[in-house]
Amino acid sequence: MNAILDAFARMSFREALGWMLVENAVLFGVAVLGGDLLVWIFRTRRVGPLPPPVEAKELAWAACCVVLNTLVTAAGWWLWRSGYIVIRRDTGARAWLDAAALLLMMDLAMYLTHRIAHHPWAFPLAHATHHQYDRPRPLDLFVLNPIEALGFGALWLTILLLYSSSWLGILVYLALNLAFGVVGHLGVEPLPRSWAEHRLIRLFGTSTFHAGHHRDDRGNFGFYTSIWDRLFGTLHPRDARSQLPRLTRP
Ligand SMILES: [Zn+2]
Ligand SMILES: [Zn+2]
Repeated sequence: MNAILDAFARMSFREALGWMLVENAVLFGVAVLGGDLLVWIFRTRRVGPLPPPVEAKELAWAACCVVLNTLVTAAGWWLWRSGYIVIRRDTGARAWLDAAALLLMMDLAMYLTHRIAHHPWAFPLAHATHHQYDRPRPLDLFVLNPIEALGFGALWLTILLLYSSSWLGILVYLALNLAFGVVGHLGVEPLPRSWAEHRLIRLFGTSTFHAGHHRDDRGNFGFYTSIWDRLFGTLHPRDARSQLPRLTRP
């Protein structure tokens, strides 16, 4: 990995941009194909209604998001090359702790910005685009208004500017971010009922948790955890109890 970092440090902007577009397109493909495979495997465990057929507009939003994610990655590359973002190269326990620190910092920042995005004044400007697709499928993780896609990128780069993480912590965080995003938009619950109802598991943003936000957007604003919803009293009542909504069959 250190060799890859060295290679990126030597690249021209154009060359780096090309690789970053490939990286973002591959992540998109893995998320959608892997997510759709999970939807098919757990098709009898629906936690929300079946989505309608994919719209051309939905695909266009997602493609736009992949391009914007690439631009955010490019901005991060430039900030790193210019010395504003520092990436550590150690791989010990501290490097792994970085992943947990990044996850918790981003979770709080995203909880707060998600609540602002739902303010009646702010909602129509950006976040309404994502909520047009309230019967989500994995693709809808990428259906974001450009303001929202760039806002998430700006938040992420701000955290990296303030916190010098290891590359390991960044990679683990980005993998978890993608995994939580896909799981939240499956529309099915891969976890067995007994696990999904477990007190510890319910501290995390499960598929059922984010499906709840798409069904009723007055609660469940967290992404990776339900900690901030519990702390600020915005957890859906059904998630506050140790119960899952009744699972429906497709
Ligand atoms: Zn969503
Ligand atoms: Zn929302």
